[in-house]
Amino acid sequence: MDHRLRKKKIAGRKIFSPGRFRLYALTVLGLVLAGLLTSGFAVFAKPDYDRLNFMQRFVVCGVLAKWLHQVKTLPEEKRVLVDYNHLLGQLNVFEKSVVQRIFAINPREFGFKGPLHSLEKPDNLVKIMPQAYKRSGQEGSTGIQYCPAASYNDYLRMMARMRQELGRELFIESGYRSPGFQAYAFLLYLVRNHDFSLRKAARLNALPGYSEHQDPVNNALDFINADGVNGDEPQTPEDFERLPEYQWLLKHAHKFNFYLSYPRDNQWGVSFEPWHWHWQKPASPNSGKQWQ
Ligand SMILES: [Zn+2]
Repeated sequence: MDHRLRKKKIAGRKIFSPGRFRLYALTVLGLVLAGLLTSGFAVFAKPDYDRLNFMQRFVVCGVLAKWLHQVKTLPEEKRVLVDYNHLLGQLNVFEKSVVQRIFAINPREFGFKGPLHSLEKPDNLVKIMPQAYKRSGQEGSTGIQYCPAASYNDYLRMMARMRQELGRELFIESGYRSPGFQAYAFLLYLVRNHDFSLRKAARLNALPGYSEHQDPVNNALDFINADGVNGDEPQTPEDFERLPEYQWLLKHAHKFNFYLSYPRDNQWGVSFEPWHWHWQKPASPNSGKQWQ
């Protein structure tokens, strides 16, 4: 046998001797376990409000992909009413843990000062068929929306008056939303618009139960005009603020029991939302009637 070849063979035997193999195997196993433990700790760690850690970001993206699919495959009329527990039922143990941790946070920790509205579904919802708008020549639709009956009647009266006085109207782009849909919308904005910052997302999107869109009585409506102006990105709140429809609301909405919830520097710690108006149940059954 060639001398060098013989040396190589001996060296090869040494490398793969049973003792060394066990050592390598244990090292690899140790590294894998350490990796799993680190990932596990990262998933279950308390969320950093300014940016979720890498594992939580990974998990949240997975949750969003599942929920997007889930919501899109529902019949359109059921989307904004989607049940939170139904959405949770689609998730594995890691996903469920991250999502439940996020939604268990009291939004006061982010500077939100509004109340918890409700997690109960109102029993008097009116179904509103899609309303069409045209934005830069492109057709758009509000999709099917829901609204408690009393506020919807006042909305109709208000729009009749606006059409009469201004020749314009506003459509309901978002009315009642279930806590499930609110959770879905929050994650969507968290990932797509706020780079996984819970603090930033909570400035514009309420956590489930904390949205006026979930109030069974004094609920909120988000408006969009016939040209598709709603103030949502890439538009700005100022785009909506400049609308004659908005200026009209500032003067007349209270006559129909609607109030701007989030003006600039509002007491609730929420960003300026000129499109978001809530209905307030009149103090007595007859108040507000004079304006019909
Ligand atoms: Zn709103």
